[in-house]
Amino acid sequence: MALRLFNTLTRRKEEFQSIVEGKVGLYTCGPTVYDFAHIGNLRAFIFEDLLRRYLKYSGYQVKQVMNLTDVDDKTIRGSKEQGVSLAEYTQTYKEAFFEDLRNLNIEPAEVYPAATDHIQDMVDLILRLRDRGYTYEMDGATYFRISDFKEYGKLAHFKIDQLKVGARIDADSYEKEEARDFALWKAWDEEDGEVFWETELGKGRPGWHIECSAMSMKHLGEQFDIHTGGVDNIFPHHENEIAQSEGATGKPWVNYWLHCEHLLVEGKKMSKSEGNYYTLKDLSEKGYDRKAIRYLLLSTHYRQQLNFTLAGIDASRSALQRLYDFMENLKRVRKGGNHPEVAECVAETKKNFGQAMDDDLNISGGLAAIFDFVRKINILAAGGKIARGDAVEIVRTMENFDTVLGVLEYKQREIDEDVERMIQERHQARTSGDWKKADEIRDRLREMDIILEDSPEGTRWKIL
Ligand code: AMP
Ligand code: ZN
Repeated sequence: MALRLFNTLTRRKEEFQSIVEGKVGLYTCGPTVYDFAHIGNLRAFIFEDLLRRYLKYSGYQVKQVMNLTDVDDKTIRGSKEQGVSLAEYTQTYKEAFFEDLRNLNIEPAEVYPAATDHIQDMVDLILRLRDRGYTYEMDGATYFRISDFKEYGKLAHFKIDQLKVGARIDADSYEKEEARDFALWKAWDEEDGEVFWETELGKGRPGWHIECSAMSMKHLGEQFDIHTGGVDNIFPHHENEIAQSEGATGKPWVNYWLHCEHLLVEGKKMSKSEGNYYTLKDLSEKGYDRKAIRYLLLSTHYRQQLNFTLAGIDASRSALQRLYDFMENLKRVRKGGNHPEVAECVAETKKNFGQAMDDDLNISGGLAAIFDFVRKINILAAGGKIARGDAVEIVRTMENFDTVLGVLEYKQREIDEDVERMIQERHQARTSGDWKKADEIRDRLREMDIILEDSPEGTRWKIL
C-alpha cells in the first residue's frame, strides 16, 4: 500500500508521489507572531508534525519550511498599541511560539524564515509578476490583477466570472464573496508608522500573501511537494499564493494541498476574535498535562472538526496512562527468550498501523491498531507468554510507532528534566550545607527508582 493524501486542489485522495525520489519538500504556513498561539493554532501545527513524522516513518527525508509572519496588518497594529518597535513586539511571540513547540514535542522544521528577512525576495517576485503583466499600480501600491490569472479560484473551487473585475482590496484577510485584486505591495501610510522599506516598488511593505510565495520558493524551489495550513487559509491566502507563484514562474507550483479542520469550542471556531480560546499556558496553569493535550490534538483525524472540552483532555490522559503502564510493565520482565506469537502480533500490528496511516493519516485506525496490540500482549502476558526477548521486541516496536506519535519518548524526556532539576537542587543544598534537604531529595529520587552515584566529576544517575 502506498501513502494516499486528500488533496484540496482535486478534492480527492491521491497516491503520494514525491518530485524527487525519497525526498519531500513541505511548506507549512506558520504563525503570525502578534499574540500567543491558542490551541486551535497548535492543532494545525500538531497535524503538520504528524504529517512530517509519518513521512519520515515511511522512509522519506523531509525538508519542512515554516514561515514566521512578523510583518502584516495585525503585527503592525499590535506594536503600535504597545508603543514598541515591530521587531521588539514580534520577538516576544516568536519566543513563545518556539516554547509551545517544545512543550508539545513538535519536531522542529528545517527552516523558519522570517518575513522581515526576505523583503528583497518578495520585491523580486513582484517584479517578475510585473514583467509578466499581472500587476498594476495605484496610489503607490502594487496589485495583482486576478482576472489575468485564468485559473484563479482553482483551490477554493469557484468560478472566475463570479468575481468583481477591477475592484481592489488592501486587507490581508477577507471572505470569498469579496474576492478582488489584492495588494502585493502596500504603499506606506501613517498607520504603518516606522514600518516601511524603500524599494524598487516604492516606500511601503509587502502584503501577507506574497510573503509565503517568496519564502517557500526561496527555500524549497519553484516546484515542491506539499503545502499545508488550516482550512481558513484556503481562501484567500493559498488561492493568492498559487496565483502569485504560478503567475511568476508559468508552471505548476505545489502538487498536494492539505488543510486541517478547525478546533471548535461549543460549535464555534476557537479564535482570538470570539474570545473562546485557551493558550497552552492557560491549560498548564490549570494543571492539565501537555502530553495529554498533544494526544488530544493528535488523535482526531485532521479533516474532522474537533470539539474541544476539558473532559477531552482527561480522557486523553487515561488513554496515555494505559500506554505508559504497558511500557513500565515490559521493563520488569526479566527472564527468557522469545515466543512466536509475539513476532506474529508485532508484524500484524505494523501492517494495520501502516495501512491506516497510509489512508490519508487515519490516526484513529492507527491508534486502534496500537491499542489492540496492547490488549493482545496483555493477554499473552497474563498467560505467561512474554519473556525478556519478547519484551525487548515489543518495546522496540512501540518506540518505532512513537516516532510518529511522539508521546512516549516525550514522557522520558520530562522525567529526565525532572531528575536533572532535582539533582541540581540537591547539589545546591549540599554546597550550602543543608544535608537534610539533600538527603530528602535523594530519598525522593529513590522512590522513583533512581539511584545517584556521586564522583569528583559530578553526580550521575541511573534507573534501577
Ligand atoms: P495564524 O497565526 O492566525 O496565522 O494561524 C496559524 C495557523 O493556525 C493557520 O494555519 C490557521 O489556519 C490555524 N488556525 C487558526 N485557528 C484555528 C482553529 N480554531 N483550529 C485549527 N486551526 C486554526
Ligand atoms: Zn502562508
